[in-house]
Amino acid sequence: MVFPFDTIQDYSVVLTPEHEMFRKAVREFVEREVAPRAMEIEETDEVPRDILRKMAEQGFFGIGIPEKYGGQGGDHRMGVIMSEEICRVLPGLSVYIGTNELFLTPIMLFGSEEQKQKYIPPIARGEKFGAFAVTEPCCGSDVAGIQTKAEKVGNKWVINGRKAFISSADVADYFVVLARTYPPPDKRLRYLGLTFFIVEKDTPGFKVEQCYHKMGLHGDHACELVLKTWRCWTRRGWARRGWGSSTPWRPSTGRGSGLRRMQSAWPKALSRWRLNTSTRGRLSACLSPTSKPYSSASWR
Ligand SMILES: Cc1cc2nc3c(=O)[nH]c(=O)nc-3n(C[C@H](O)[C@H](O)[C@H](O)COP(=O)(O)OP(=O)(O)OC[C@H]3O[C@@H](n4cnc5c(N)ncnc54)[C@H](O)[C@@H]3O)c2cc1C
Repeated sequence: MVFPFDTIQDYSVVLTPEHEMFRKAVREFVEREVAPRAMEIEETDEVPRDILRKMAEQGFFGIGIPEKYGGQGGDHRMGVIMSEEICRVLPGLSVYIGTNELFLTPIMLFGSEEQKQKYIPPIARGEKFGAFAVTEPCCGSDVAGIQTKAEKVGNKWVINGRKAFISSADVADYFVVLARTYPPPDKRLRYLGLTFFIVEKDTPGFKVEQCYHKMGLHGDHACELVLKTWRCWTRRGWARRGWGSSTPWRPSTGRGSGLRRMQSAWPKALSRWRLNTSTRGRLSACLSPTSKPYSSASWR
């Protein structure tokens, strides 16, 4: 059993009248604005921008995001209801919301206030889109096996690697990219040494390459990314030089305390939730911070 419950009967989702009102509003919207065009979108594999704009006007991209960061507030159940209702009509459209959430989650959990203020509000308003880049041609479920490397050179991080199957990559403005910053200390701790970097599109050395032709989820595209000697300043350099296009993940600085708290809570949460091994490996990898820079010599 992978649930944090003894049996499936212990699990129940309680929906309030507000949730049901929200469901009705989303359903009416998708029936009116999306359903008449769903077949065209399935065939062309493109979501017209005006649909995304109308979703933004409804505040859909801000659901679940705190008002402090320009969101609509609301709980996780509202996000699920919204996805259910969109998926009834056009599953590919729900991916735009899903990838935003994947981008925002590490920032909400571990980002500095500066990063939150910069990246969350434009996404909550539907003006920008986010993507989450973990999978590589070598490795999907095996997150700890990723080969993208980030090396600290002076006051910059230099990242080289390739990502595969990255949803919404062609429309995304911001990406969280997972890279290895130091080699695993041993086989059992191979999920250590992985760090998220925030990368903005159009940064030199960063490119969205081919998008695949999928059998389903039309309207959203999964693409490959290339980071070729992509450089970003460490946070200090970034602040001093006013570099605004990229911010590396730096949990080693003061804001890492939240991350460390999370880290210490994590093993307890794992044992309580009794997650299966692959889920555990994946989540640990995604949450693992590092302050130890990767050095090319240490790989051999
Ligand atoms: C449409 C689409 C969108 C995607 N979007 C994103 C995205 O936005 N960002 C991103 O980072 N990735 C994305 N992915 C990649 C996705 O996360 C990977 O496909 C997924 O992690 C599985 O990896 P894989 O395809 O390499 O399969 P593999 O890891 O090779 O797995 C193949 C099979 O082996 C099984 N398996 C693997 N390991 C074990 C094990 N230890 N024990 C038992 N069985 C095992 C798996 O369940 C699966 O059936 C997307 C994929 C698709 C298809």
